[in-house]
Amino acid sequence: MIDFEPTPEQAALVAQVREFIHERVIPMEADPRRTAHGPTEALRGDLVAMAREAGLLSLHVSPEYGGKGIDHRTAALVFEESGYSMLGPVAMNIAAPDEANMHMLERIASDEQKERYLRPLAAGGGRSCFCMTEPAPGAGSDPAALATTARQEGEEFVIDGRKWMITGFDGAAFAIIMARTIDAQGRDLGASMFLTPMDVPGIRLVRVLDTMDASFTGGHAELAFEGLRVPREAVLGELGEGFRYAQVSLAPARLTHCMRWLGAARRAHDIAVDYTRRREAFGQRLIDHEGVGFQLADNEIELRQARLAIWHTAWLLDRGERASRESSMAKVYCAEAIYRIADRAMQVMGGLGLSDDTEVARIYRDVRAFRVYDGPSEVHRWSIARRLGR
Ligand SMILES: Cc1cc2nc3c(=O)[nH]c(=O)nc-3n(C[C@H](O)[C@H](O)[C@H](O)COP(=O)(O)OP(=O)(O)OC[C@H]3O[C@@H](n4cnc5c(N)ncnc54)[C@H](O)[C@@H]3O)c2cc1C
Repeated sequence: MIDFEPTPEQAALVAQVREFIHERVIPMEADPRRTAHGPTEALRGDLVAMAREAGLLSLHVSPEYGGKGIDHRTAALVFEESGYSMLGPVAMNIAAPDEANMHMLERIASDEQKERYLRPLAAGGGRSCFCMTEPAPGAGSDPAALATTARQEGEEFVIDGRKWMITGFDGAAFAIIMARTIDAQGRDLGASMFLTPMDVPGIRLVRVLDTMDASFTGGHAELAFEGLRVPREAVLGELGEGFRYAQVSLAPARLTHCMRWLGAARRAHDIAVDYTRRREAFGQRLIDHEGVGFQLADNEIELRQARLAIWHTAWLLDRGERASRESSMAKVYCAEAIYRIADRAMQVMGGLGLSDDTEVARIYRDVRAFRVYDGPSEVHRWSIARRLGR
């Protein structure tokens, strides 16, 4: 019933990814093209080219679109290895938001939309973004507050509204927009998703925000849709089904974040273990001081717990279950545990931990946001508790 042994194919893929990350990607971490708003397009291009050459691009996409169609359990193994460098998911084209957007397009988009948007995205040619969150009083934790509208005019929809915190918007090739849909008779059909290329009138970049994290190409943007006209064929799936589709893709998307960040947490922990084995204070190695050793032991415990939560949820998803409760639990646990792991790694490394001489401080800064995006911890707890109250 419970089998944690990877298959020979999974083990071989994990070994290949591990070697790729260690031999090719980690040496790129010193590249000055890592900016406060993420790796530049040029750095991303170089990384993607390396993964393409290694046959490690977009592994979660089906072979028809150039991937290997790996299942969630295999993704758990492979994405963790990829996350061992924060540049790994960028290189392998499995970073947010592209990875989740590919997942959703493959399941919901029409054949024409797949050819136009999914195929080039999976090939690593351009990037995408997912435009949901709005400044107050619009949609945030509560998607029902969605204020952006798509008004039907003949065979077109006219989209107006403001979004923010949109990862990768600056420089993306296309966007998926969540908007409240009003039909030609003025009826509110609910939320729908629309696909649009970015090089059209009616899309304005307001600013790229300065945030704590720095691992997503393009950073996070505030933007305005001002009379953006999209044709009927731009609708992703069915009108009025936007929130349902978001739910379908959210559980796997939350989990892939956990997988990648688990790899980053392992990296921070490994760096800390290495340092505390070599550095001495008060006549012995740091790791031999109980106060340090216990922190590293807690890291080991939480890495294990996070991995088990991910594997179990991946197993449920592979059985065709929605696993929304389990993915909520995994998301809260991983986001908080991984933050604690990075924090402890920093602490036991003293001043070095706080500098950018190692990856630890970068991981700490980056992973903090994971407690907010894909649903803040409090919202997941609230939804788990609500189920208990029924
Ligand atoms: C780095 C980063 C990248 C992001 N990328 C994207 C993106 O690509 N596309 C996109 O659409 N959005 C993106 N977001 C936005 C993200 O999804 C939202 O920040 C998140 O949904 C929370 O919405 P909000 O910021 O409006 O917080 P608010 O809705 O203002 O909530 C603020 C806080 O209130 C608390 N809270 C809310 N509801 C409850 C409740 N029921 N019970 C208890 N406490 C509660 C929580 O602590 C929450 O953090 C990103 C955010 C970050 C930080």
